[in-house]
Amino acid sequence: MDVSPADFARFRAQLPRGAVEIMRRIREAGGEAYLVGGCLRDLLLGRPVTDWDIATSLTPDQLHPLFRRVVSVGIRFGTLIIPRRDAAYEVTTFRTEGAYRDGRHPDEVAYTRDLRKDLERRDFTINAMAWDVASDTLVDPFEGLADLAAGRIRAVGDPRARFREDALRLMRAIRQATQLRFRIAPATFAALQATADGLAAISAERIRDELTGLLLAPEPSRGLRLLEEADLLRIVLPELAATRGFAQNRFHSHDLFDHSLRALDAAPPGDLGLRLAILLHDIGKVETREARGDDYTFYAHQIVGARKARRILQRLRYPNELIQRVTHLIRHHMFYYETEWTDSAVRRFVRTVGSEHIPDLIAVRIADMAGNQRKRGDRTPLDELQQRIDEVIAKDTALSVRDLAIGGHDLMALGVPEGPRIGEILRALLERVLDDPEMNTREALLAAAREMQASG
Ligand code: ATP
Ligand code: MG
Repeated sequence: MDVSPADFARFRAQLPRGAVEIMRRIREAGGEAYLVGGCLRDLLLGRPVTDWDIATSLTPDQLHPLFRRVVSVGIRFGTLIIPRRDAAYEVTTFRTEGAYRDGRHPDEVAYTRDLRKDLERRDFTINAMAWDVASDTLVDPFEGLADLAAGRIRAVGDPRARFREDALRLMRAIRQATQLRFRIAPATFAALQATADGLAAISAERIRDELTGLLLAPEPSRGLRLLEEADLLRIVLPELAATRGFAQNRFHSHDLFDHSLRALDAAPPGDLGLRLAILLHDIGKVETREARGDDYTFYAHQIVGARKARRILQRLRYPNELIQRVTHLIRHHMFYYETEWTDSAVRRFVRTVGSEHIPDLIAVRIADMAGNQRKRGDRTPLDELQQRIDEVIAKDTALSVRDLAIGGHDLMALGVPEGPRIGEILRALLERVLDDPEMNTREALLAAAREMQASG
């Protein structure tokens, strides 16, 4: 792989103004400035760039006076955030890192004027290149360009030592291999396996962020298989590791691990909650499997699975709202729609699941079917269900107690005492209305309520 002047011209055209200005100002002050890391890698690959990182020979003290606004002295030592009109840029002084005693943080960080030293501390060769925009020089001391061309993740330096220094790199290697659809070089992969235990020292939040990036990749199963082969899955998602080789029943063509991964790959793009729900939808089968004749059943696995998924996602510190949604989808993924369903059955389904979750549940089902060769799905019934639900919703019939034509106050006016009895009656009225939407009028409901009140 060679980078031609025409390539550089193309990259230059993509540079945001703010980055160009910052680098110009640094050069005018006598410093060196390079684009480094992920943005250069992504430019070379023709992928969209998310954040533009600049490395410089100037120290933070030298940088401060050059810019009107320097918002925060970075999360990591020697990093400044410089906000410009178009974006905020991370500007990092060339630095070396001392030993890592805890597998997470370097004991000391020292500035250097030597770019090569800075590149040496970076994790993978494809992330350890620098581009001097003014002279079109590509600094590539570790053959990152060749690895990019070969589609290969390779550690800079001795891979075992690098993973022992900072175990987050274990997750970064696999997340980036998944996002880029790269392979991991053999020695780097062997080092992953040898140092996998180190991941236990990394916080749940940082593991979660890498896992999220992996799950949102176009073919996330690659990442989960890599985690499994690298012996990291038992640390990140032991519950999923336990599904490896777990046999299902005659309705399934794959073991539970394979089925979950195939379903996951069929998930729609860009929706983390949906992907987590699909990945974990059958996780409760492990606890609920029972032999029945020469086959297995998994009674109530959706209930056990929803509870188990909640614990998993809480441990990984996913936000509560996301956990709610994922566990709700898992809890309700076992519906069996048939054309024979009555309209009141359709209304009850919407009442139980919530209209806002219906498209997600159908997406879970479609992915579930795609993950199973023996059920290769006919989606016609699902489309029919969606259509019937749309009709129910369009008719504006009552689907929850809130939609009833009377409320608690009306019941109290009838002499029902304040307390749990009010809710009981309202729920009983809703059941009637779900059967017969015509009943949702004040007169009809008040009459029915009087009757219930009289009969206790
Ligand atoms: P992306 O932004 O796509 O997740 P990235 O490689 O840009 O990928 P960042 O976290 O933005 O990742 O880090 C920017 C650069 O900093 C990386 O390209 C790499 O050179 C370096 N880097 C980040 N994390 C580490 C680490 N744990 N160990 C060594 N170098 C790292
Ligand atoms: Mg980045």
